[in-house]
Amino acid sequence: MARAMGSVRLKKANPSTLVLGAVLCIFIIIFLISPSGSSVSSRLADVTANHHLSPPTSPYRKSSLKGGKSSPPPVSRYDLNKVTVTPQPMRNKEHILVLTPMSRFYQGYWDNLMKLNYPHELITLGFILPKDREGNEATAALQKQIQRTQKRGPEKDRFKSIIILRQDFDPAIASQDESERHKMSNQKARREVMSKARNSLLFTTLGPKTSWVLWLDADIVESPPSLIQDLAAFDKDLISANCWQKYYDEDLKKMSERPYDYNNWQDSENAQELAKKMGPDDILLEGYAEMPTYRTLMAKMYDPTGDINEAMPLDGVGGTALLVKAEVHRDGAMFPPFSFYHLIETEGFAKMAKRLGKQPWGLPNYKVFHYNDIDLARSVLGEEGREGR
Ligand code: GDP
Ligand code: MN
Repeated sequence: MARAMGSVRLKKANPSTLVLGAVLCIFIIIFLISPSGSSVSSRLADVTANHHLSPPTSPYRKSSLKGGKSSPPPVSRYDLNKVTVTPQPMRNKEHILVLTPMSRFYQGYWDNLMKLNYPHELITLGFILPKDREGNEATAALQKQIQRTQKRGPEKDRFKSIIILRQDFDPAIASQDESERHKMSNQKARREVMSKARNSLLFTTLGPKTSWVLWLDADIVESPPSLIQDLAAFDKDLISANCWQKYYDEDLKKMSERPYDYNNWQDSENAQELAKKMGPDDILLEGYAEMPTYRTLMAKMYDPTGDINEAMPLDGVGGTALLVKAEVHRDGAMFPPFSFYHLIETEGFAKMAKRLGKQPWGLPNYKVFHYNDIDLARSVLGEEGREGR
């Protein structure tokens, strides 16, 4: 009935009215589609990622234009329980995120990184650098190496992706020299800044496909090339290598080695007692004669005749060479930039992991080596910044 009435009306309609209506319709369609379509695509170009990790919160768009029309932003689905984390990460093609807070660039770090023989196409690198003069210099030096590797180097050397962040807060201390870094009075502010740097780096780079996170400090200049797969083989939630330092022994007149990273430790009753007497914002520090903790330091447990596969449970960890299952971070463990059970930064992270039910481990006989600039500083300043170093 309604249709019949409509057709009757159409027949009666003036042809010029019909033409006018059609022209209007065409104008409306053109107005709706073309100008808004192009502005949407240019707006999206600013926020969409070129790959799924940069930044992980933005939609990944393969192509913005299809036949002149912009395609709608895709919906990405990731099944986190299909992200495997196994003791054979190479066989299972697991993605590794290598994270490095960097205040200075050392060629030895880059050369060592290049020698890692875990497939580079499964490795994403993430860096965060301060925005001061030293940070600018380090960024320039880093970018030069990245260009060389990613553009001109052999295919097998190229990493899956590389993310560089510049931090939005200042470094805590003006000088990065080892003697200045290790003064006790500088520690709280310095480690708060370090925590924020690590958190910023972690929260902006951890992708939905990341299986493992390797924390590798910018001054680690020597490690076994199989570092990643070696640490993963232990199948621990968090596992730390033993960080040592090579130096020239003045007495013996030859090169020697000494323990470096004291943040890998097992807790002690003394430390617990010290903590009980502290104010809520105070933190325990390791490696200072003024604050004897009598903790068991993994750095000092190295046994040259021991088994390289020996593992010990830890209560505090350092970040020099630390492999973490990504789910530990995803579940919420980060680097507290405040006193957390009187612990901060990497040591606070170990505590937070433990509160999540994840046990940190360390390998006392598996060594990596830290750059050495203290011998120079000591000969100039005549000062030993930190006990035992
Ligand atoms: P130490 O070896 O325990 O004295 O600690 P480092 O000074 O070497 O710091 C640990 C890591 O953090 C190294 O990779 C440094 O390059 C880096 N780092 C130190 N301070 C800052 C900072 O203010 N900002 C950033 N982004 N990285 C830093
Ligand atoms: Mn260091």
